[in-house]
Amino acid sequence: MSHPSWCDRAHCVARGSAGAHRSRPVVIDRLLLVRANLYSPAAAPGVAFVELRCGTAVLRAREAYGLGRALMSLGRAAEDAPF
Ligand SMILES: [Zn+2]
Repeated sequence: MSHPSWCDRAHCVARGSAGAHRSRPVVIDRLLLVRANLYSPAAAPGVAFVELRCGTAVLRAREAYGLGRALMSLGRAAEDAPF
C-alpha cells in the first residue's frame, strides 16, 4: 500500500481501501483537545482534507489565533500535497 507523502504511520489507519491516512496532528490546546491534521480516505488517497478535532465550542483568543494559523498552514499543505 502506498501512503501520501505527508502520512504519519503512527496515525495512519488505512487498510486497503478502508480507513484513512492521517498526518501528525498539530496540537493547539492539549487540555481542550483542539488539534488538526491532514486526512485522506484510504479509497481516495490523492484527495487531502483538513481534519479538525475540537473538544470545545469556545476558545481563548490565543488558542483561536493558533487554530487559525494551523488551519491556514494545513489548508495550504492539502492543496499543494503531492501524492
Ligand atoms: Zn497512510
